[in-house]
Parts: sequence; C-alpha cells; structure tokens
Amino acid sequence: MPPKKRSPGLRTRGNKAVFMDRDGVIVKEVNYLSRVEDMTVIPGAADAIAKLREAGFKAIVISNQSAVARGLLSLSGLSEITRVLRAELLKKNPAARLDAVYYCPHHPDFDRSCACRKPGIGLILKAKKKFNIDLKSSYFVGDSSADILAARRAGCVPLLVKTGKAGKDGIYREKPQKTFKSLSEAATWILRQ
Ligand SMILES: [Mg+2]
Ligand SMILES: [Zn+2]
Repeated sequence: MPPKKRSPGLRTRGNKAVFMDRDGVIVKEVNYLSRVEDMTVIPGAADAIAKLREAGFKAIVISNQSAVARGLLSLSGLSEITRVLRAELLKKNPAARLDAVYYCPHHPDFDRSCACRKPGIGLILKAKKKFNIDLKSSYFVGDSSADILAARRAGCVPLLVKTGKAGKDGIYREKPQKTFKSLSEAATWILRQ
C-alpha cells in the first residue's frame, strides 16, 4: 500500500528542487558545446529560473558533458562555459541564480562507465545530499529520453521540453509526466502545482 499523503503544511522532508538539463533546456543544443561564443541562452530561461527560485525551489543543473571524455573540451574549458552561463543568466535576470551545476564528463566508449552519466542518478543524489532535497516534491526538466529516465529513477516528476532534442532521441522509452514548449512554460506549470 502506498504511504498516506501528508498535508503540505506538515511536510518537513527537505527542500524542493527543479533539476534542469543544460543543453536544449537552458541553452541551445549545438552538439558538444565547447566554445563560449557558441552558447545561446534560450529565450525565457533566465526568467523561468528566477521565478522558480523566488518560489523556493533550488535551481540545479544536471548535465552530461561527454565532450570532455571525447577530448573536445577540457575541464577548465567547461568551467569557463559555466562561469559565462551563470553571468549571462544574471544579466538577463538578477534573480536567475543557479544553486548548483553538476556535470558528468564521462562516456563509457571514451573513458569509463560511471554512475553520474544520465540516465544514472549519481549527480541527482549528490545534489540531494548537499541541499537536503526531497526528491518526491522535485521536478526534472529535460529534452532527452535519458533526462526523463533519470528523473523517474530518482523519483522526481519528469517534464519534457520541446526545445533541443524534444525527446526524439529514441534511446530510452520512459514517458514524461507532461510536455511543454520550453523551460518557461514548464516553470509556469510547476508554480501552479
Ligand atoms: Mg539536453
Ligand atoms: Zn560520469
């Protein structure tokens, strides 16, 4: 039998988060982004992050970056992209602060298998521990089937956006809870729940 639902006022299970993929959700998908000049923030993404944070959600990026394992990008290059991304978001909306950005730099064909590459949930669990996150009251917004499966496995609500790969990569079969045009629309829906 499923456990009884507690009333929202009595919840003390931790913080709520909106986990987000980066490429195809916050920035345009360009296939192995490796230069800051190729990075474009998707319209509405900064405002969406700001709204979610103002409503008490942690805004946490969980991203596979196998460009590192493939030798297309160094770890310092990846840090630089993150620094510029954070700055661009804040420029668009001063409240669009990301609480954390987690990457998996691996790929089983190029360096090694790992628990952090989505649909693995290693990075979600790391964030859960660091921010005391209640996964059941958290969401994951992604554009790929690996995002949706990772969200399901972690027990978050999987939301698909039609930016980026739009869930059409065909690798995993897991279905999202709902589909939206963009992070902006997903955030609007999350805030109504
Ligand atoms: Mg993506
Ligand atoms: Zn990894």
